[in-house]
Amino acid sequence: MQIPDKRSLTLNTCYRGRFAPSPSGPLHFGSLVTALASFIHAKQHQGTWLVRIEDIDPPREQQGASQHILNTLEAFGLHWDDSVLYQSQQSERYNDTLADLFNQKLTYYCQCTRAEIKAKGGVYQGQCKNKRHHENNSAIRLVNHFAIHEYQDLIQGDITCNKNLAKEDFILKRKDGLYAYQLAVVADDIEQNISHIIRGCDLLEPTARQLTLFRTLEKPAPQFGHIPLAVTENGYKLSKQNKAPALDLTNPQPTLIAVLKFLGQVPPDDLINYSVNDIITWAIENVLFTTLPQQREIQL
Ligand SMILES: [Zn+2]
Repeated sequence: MQIPDKRSLTLNTCYRGRFAPSPSGPLHFGSLVTALASFIHAKQHQGTWLVRIEDIDPPREQQGASQHILNTLEAFGLHWDDSVLYQSQQSERYNDTLADLFNQKLTYYCQCTRAEIKAKGGVYQGQCKNKRHHENNSAIRLVNHFAIHEYQDLIQGDITCNKNLAKEDFILKRKDGLYAYQLAVVADDIEQNISHIIRGCDLLEPTARQLTLFRTLEKPAPQFGHIPLAVTENGYKLSKQNKAPALDLTNPQPTLIAVLKFLGQVPPDDLINYSVNDIITWAIENVLFTTLPQQREIQL
């Protein structure tokens, strides 16, 4: 195997990236693609790479999944810097963020049901904005002043999202008391000082909302880069729900090579015979983010 000379890389001392899985089951091929891409991007920029467990939705969690995810990352040579952040332990900070927004009159209580919103076309129209509902049995919505729907993606270029959806006063805390993904993820990206987020294309649309929330909170937003999704033959996103096959932690090399090929890279034939760390080193030195393919099918 020939390892080419290290190409000169731009030193970005501020780079802080992260991988943020939810523990609704073990990692599968698609989530490993995202983990590896965000890890490599961080390391190519001499960055710090963090792991955050997004365990804010207890009914969707699977017992033991968090530890299994961490074991999987280690087995595949994706070693994180600094301690793992668990969203389930951050409630106080999420409440502080909500209180800040409330004090600035940037949130309000909403009692609409899903059926009521659906009956009005599926996008929430601000019906409760001036109703002064009590907090009991209410969701908390953001007063959306910015409605960001366009941004520059590091990998996909210019992104334009649905304008009507971008205008929505989206939910920050659900009626059932759980924090919304948008709130938790932005509050944590601020707390962890995240500068770059590399993740799957299924999050192109939520990124616009998150940019709106960063702006509302008057915090600098990270740069986002979205990579192609692993989909099944029928075009469905590969996920825990459609029973993506489990990863083999005892023999990670073939899967790592498959991930690199999925990302449009051409690893040398004998790389599969090398150690996990050698494969990761090859990936850091050779993966080109400029040649990522569009959405890819994989055989289950
Ligand atoms: Zn409402």
